[in-house]
Amino acid sequence: MTRLRPPDEVRAICRVLERAGHEAWCVGGAVRDALLGIATLDWDIATSARPEQVQALFKRTVPVGIQFGTVGVLDAHGVLHEVTTFRHDVETDGRHAVVKFGASLDEDLARRDFTINAIAVHAERLELRDPFGGREDLERRVLRCVGDAPERMREDRLRALRALRFAGRFEFDIEPATWEAIRASAPHLGRLSMERVKQELEKVMEQVAKPARTLERYREAGILAALLPSIAEAPRERFAAIDHLARPGLVRRPDRRMLRLAALFVEPGVRPARRLEQQLKELKFSTVEARATVALAEGAGEVTLTRLRELATATSDAPTDPAAVELRRTIARVGRLRVPGLTRLLWARAKAEGVPASEGRAGVGLYRRAMRSAFRDPLTVADLAVDGDDLRTAGVEAGKGMGEALQWLLEQVMVDPALNRREELLALLRGR
Ligand code: ATP
Ligand code: MG
Repeated sequence: MTRLRPPDEVRAICRVLERAGHEAWCVGGAVRDALLGIATLDWDIATSARPEQVQALFKRTVPVGIQFGTVGVLDAHGVLHEVTTFRHDVETDGRHAVVKFGASLDEDLARRDFTINAIAVHAERLELRDPFGGREDLERRVLRCVGDAPERMREDRLRALRALRFAGRFEFDIEPATWEAIRASAPHLGRLSMERVKQELEKVMEQVAKPARTLERYREAGILAALLPSIAEAPRERFAAIDHLARPGLVRRPDRRMLRLAALFVEPGVRPARRLEQQLKELKFSTVEARATVALAEGAGEVTLTRLRELATATSDAPTDPAAVELRRTIARVGRLRVPGLTRLLWARAKAEGVPASEGRAGVGLYRRAMRSAFRDPLTVADLAVDGDDLRTAGVEAGKGMGEALQWLLEQVMVDPALNRREELLALLRGR
């Protein structure tokens, strides 16, 4: 039971509320996580005190969501804890709720989405209040709506996406009536703002260790067809690849989250649709994110998985080995800055397609070789050890001939980077 004990700062806040004659309980995600044995940081407090009473009781507060009854209380370390007045949702339109205060704890728990999110614990007595059987569902590993599933999903369409995220995060089954209600919600998800949808996808990529199953559930429920039609027919392996991409982890790694998101839109050996950037922007990707994704998709379009595996399993380390030359040409085509993300993404896809165990280490080798090549080898005309002036001095005329000469030299050094020295290149040019 000690794992259920909230941190001292949270207990102190609850004590202040109770001494003033109010009820105070820890609720929601932290209680759920504690019961699952997962360390958690954000302990939300629910109270019978009105928001203005909460504000009056604590020195330092922040009105984080006053209209919904949430006051942020700052503890001695300046850490914010959310204290929310018990409430009813009286009226809903699929996303926005009109709330009414003056509810009881049980009523407050009843308006929550899933049984596992509707458990309260008293901060001192560690007494549990669990009117919907949340603990049993945690034990049986089942995600279930509080109350009538179709009705709860109609009240707030975001719950369909939340359900799939929680089921994925904890690897839970979805109770049949809840699943049916999710499927029935799919055609109505257009009500959600694209910002919310994107946020949900980001949370899936962050919180779910292996998102493929969740994404397949999105597909089965008809949610992809409704919200992301361009990937509704994507091969299973595209989603499976995401399971092989590192998750952002506790220390937030936005680049990793981004790569997982981008993987949704990338197909090796297939050029991306010209509309991709526009589509991503409609999905509320930032310009930077949209461009990075398009760049990855374009790069991946240049490389088939067969070619990738040939490059990965090449054994010779010699710079003039055909595989090394091929790797260089590929990097030149996709752009050296795209190499780290693209190699990770493509190798993850190769794994999803089932690379033999014997090639298991090959991906690591490929990554190292590709990085070395990308940042050491001459891959563009600008990397040549000669420039236009050198060539003019050597008698090459400005204009078309100059461009051709530089390209020709680049061809030579791509095949053998050791040739990329000024004297060597000028000699080569004379002998051309
Ligand atoms: P996380 O660890 O992802 O933060 P959480 O359970 O704390 O999980 P929040 O989105 O922070 O999720 O919400 C806190 C609590 O508020 C939930 O546990 C749930 O009880 C309730 N809740 C949140 N969103 C909804 C919703 N759309 N409908 C009903 N209840 C909700
Ligand atoms: Mg939370």
